[in-house]
Amino acid sequence: MNFQLTEEQQMWRKTVHDFSEQEVKPRAAELDASAEFNAEAFQRMGPLGLLGMDIPEEYGGAGVDSLCSAIALEELGMACGGTALSVVAHNGLGCAPISLFGSEKQKRNWLPKLALGTDGLAALALTEPGTGSDLVGGVKTRAELEGDEWVINGSKAWITNAGVASLIVTLCRTDPSGGSRSLSQIVVPTKTQGLHIHPAEKKMGMRASPTNALTYENVRVPKDYLLGKMGRGLHQTLEILDGGRIGIGSISIGLAQAAINGAIGYAKERETFGVPLAQHQAIQWMIADAITQIEAARLLIYRAAWLKDCGNSFSKESAMAKLLATEMAEQVCRNAIQIHGAYGYSSEYPIERMYRDARLMTIGEGTSEIQRMVIAKRVLS
Ligand SMILES: Cc1cc2nc3c(=O)[nH]c(=O)nc-3n(C[C@H](O)[C@H](O)[C@H](O)COP(=O)(O)OP(=O)(O)OC[C@H]3O[C@@H](n4cnc5c(N)ncnc54)[C@H](O)[C@@H]3O)c2cc1C
Repeated sequence: MNFQLTEEQQMWRKTVHDFSEQEVKPRAAELDASAEFNAEAFQRMGPLGLLGMDIPEEYGGAGVDSLCSAIALEELGMACGGTALSVVAHNGLGCAPISLFGSEKQKRNWLPKLALGTDGLAALALTEPGTGSDLVGGVKTRAELEGDEWVINGSKAWITNAGVASLIVTLCRTDPSGGSRSLSQIVVPTKTQGLHIHPAEKKMGMRASPTNALTYENVRVPKDYLLGKMGRGLHQTLEILDGGRIGIGSISIGLAQAAINGAIGYAKERETFGVPLAQHQAIQWMIADAITQIEAARLLIYRAAWLKDCGNSFSKESAMAKLLATEMAEQVCRNAIQIHGAYGYSSEYPIERMYRDARLMTIGEGTSEIQRMVIAKRVLS
């Protein structure tokens, strides 16, 4: 078993690291305060390949493997959680369904522009005001065929990137009788008449990433904007979420690593009882535990990515990796604040932002409870 990253992977990490240090990290605090999207950084991400990580090279994508995506998201997560969240939602939620399930015409039509980000990003709309975890029972957004068009009515909630997207892959009920084969994914360009994108939500963290509610009022799109197969929307969505969870776990690792790096620096400088904090055993143990947990989560994430790249089943492994990495990030950020004492509670230091950002990770793309359900189902079946 080889745990060494290849030279190519190391170079990719350095490229994304340098970009994140120069273009993302310096604006993280300011954009968190103003809840603003880093449009300038996103313009530069296209040519670097960061907007085409889930798009094959033949459609203008970066053609990187899942491990490289995980590495990139970890680096972006270290710099700014909100920016990283918009990157993962664009790639893993918005572009991936088109790459995986789109027809040749759909891929040629949408993917090259999404890889550059020139017209806007991509989003995936599953959640509704009345449902998030229970998509089968809860999705009420209806799509009905009228001639050669889908007519969509309903509402969605908490959709990352909707306010900066050119298209939104929308999970709709296409069979009113219900059941696991009653849902389908339909691509809705954001300029379509009848689609209302509401003002960005006011959030606790991840504030550089826009999250919007949507209303679909007699939204009409061509029949061939159906993605994949009719009635396969739930299965396609679950496949997408399996991959997306590796991305959310990767950002969590980046957040935790940045938080503990800050705490280590602080512990070496700040003195109490005549010695640096770093010499107190209680502080050393918090740091040792954090480093150990980060490394364990990183290994689970990289393994899930490796399984995906090998074409193996990785549903249980990505759920385990997401569960461990996101719960770990919250704990590590919490202890990083503890090490900073009162300063950790102040916006003078970035730790409190990381803690707020990390809090989302056990909720988005399936809560921790849902991850445990996925894992238990695989183990007990
Ligand atoms: C910042 C942000 C960005 C988001 N981005 C997107 C996006 O891009 N696209 C999108 O579609 N959605 C998005 N979401 C929505 C997110 O995926 C949902 O919030 C999440 O899936 C949980 O759904 P819910 O909020 O409706 O909680 P609910 O499903 O109502 O669950 C509430 C609580 O009950 C628990 N629970 C539910 N069912 C069970 C059960 N059977 N057993 C045990 N516990 C259970 C849950 O774990 C949770 O703790 C985003 C949310 C946020 C906050």
